[in-house]
Amino acid sequence: MIEAIDKELSIFESMGARFDIAARKLNLDPGLEKYLRTPNREIIVHIPVTMDNGRLEVFDGFRVQHSIARGPCKGGVRFGSQVTLDEIRGLAAEMTWKCAVVNIPFGGAKGGVACDVPNLSPGELERITRRYTAEILDYIGPERDVPAPDMNTNEQTMAWIMDTYSMHVRHTTTAVVTGKPIDLGGSKGRREATGRGCMMTCDEALKRFGREKQSTRVIVQGFGNVGSQAARLMHESGYKIIGVADIAGGVFNPHGLDIPALLEYANKNHSVQGFSGGESITNGDILEQDCDVLLPAATESVINSKNADRIKARILVEGANSPTTPPADQILFDRGVFVIPDILANAGGVTVSYFEWVQDREGYFWTEQVVNERLHAIMVSAFEQVAAYGEKYNVNNRIAAYMLAIDRVAFSLKLRGIYA
Ligand code: GLU
Repeated sequence: MIEAIDKELSIFESMGARFDIAARKLNLDPGLEKYLRTPNREIIVHIPVTMDNGRLEVFDGFRVQHSIARGPCKGGVRFGSQVTLDEIRGLAAEMTWKCAVVNIPFGGAKGGVACDVPNLSPGELERITRRYTAEILDYIGPERDVPAPDMNTNEQTMAWIMDTYSMHVRHTTTAVVTGKPIDLGGSKGRREATGRGCMMTCDEALKRFGREKQSTRVIVQGFGNVGSQAARLMHESGYKIIGVADIAGGVFNPHGLDIPALLEYANKNHSVQGFSGGESITNGDILEQDCDVLLPAATESVINSKNADRIKARILVEGANSPTTPPADQILFDRGVFVIPDILANAGGVTVSYFEWVQDREGYFWTEQVVNERLHAIMVSAFEQVAAYGEKYNVNNRIAAYMLAIDRVAFSLKLRGIYA
């Protein structure tokens, strides 16, 4: 289990703390600052669901639409017992900044349902998903708000959302969600996109430092979609993966792990814990092992004021959303860790979601090679633009990414004006 996580600030507070620094540096107009900090719309729904045992349960669901300044809202839906409105509110704002960093024509949103996923049957999950969709139906749509997978949701969840929406509007509307199965209008390369984007930004960092992949030791925390794909792709491209952990535990081998064998093991056992190719280690301890690149791809606040001074990596690639707290930001910065912030590092997912939405609307699908080439062009350009902001304003990468994003959203708002 992850050891006591020092939450320090909620995700919304963390977002606000970083936003404030960036807004001050940009000399943002105070009115605009207030507007950009506040979500456009917050939807709370209470979802009645008949459970397998015949009992009626009611779950809380949320969809927060932070900004429509640059286009329809975009962002995932997460399920989990810890889901709260405040968390979703913070993540929705982060989606606005993420879409702006990679310069795709979307605003930001996030959704969630508070439910105890491991104790739900597939049928119960389907009924929760469909009723949640029905409750937020008036607020989503290809031109309004386009959900996607996030923690504890996947391609199947998106298929249910797409089907429920389509039944209501009386025609199949694939572009209402992204991250769908390929046979239902999903995009090639979407499943790998977040992990691939993490690798692409890491590649750029390595170029800056004149480092070779072969001698770069990587630790990955989290082995869900993002962590497992990042580990696989980075291994295939020549990086040396020396440690991997998921919520149950992990495995560490300074000489390098056999990633194909580990992937097979994790597939069978639903965890990397117990894999024999290295020594076992906890999900918390793995963060503090000696390595060159640390890639947290599990959950929020895992790097905080309690452990930031023990992080040995030189490069931090934030595969998860908000894995580092603001107090830890400062500690890492003071210690010279090169941080590739979440809104840049993990933006490959939403970038290929954008490609999926474009393909669905065109009804014409691209090859995986085209998807990956276009993803690469966007990730490299975003990395360079964040670095340029960092140099121009003499700020760390996280604040630079926020500044780039806020600048773009503020410019769109100025052009649009305030409707009264
Ligand atoms: N949930 C992912 C994220 O946090 C993907 C969002 C999307 O594709 O819309 O970036």
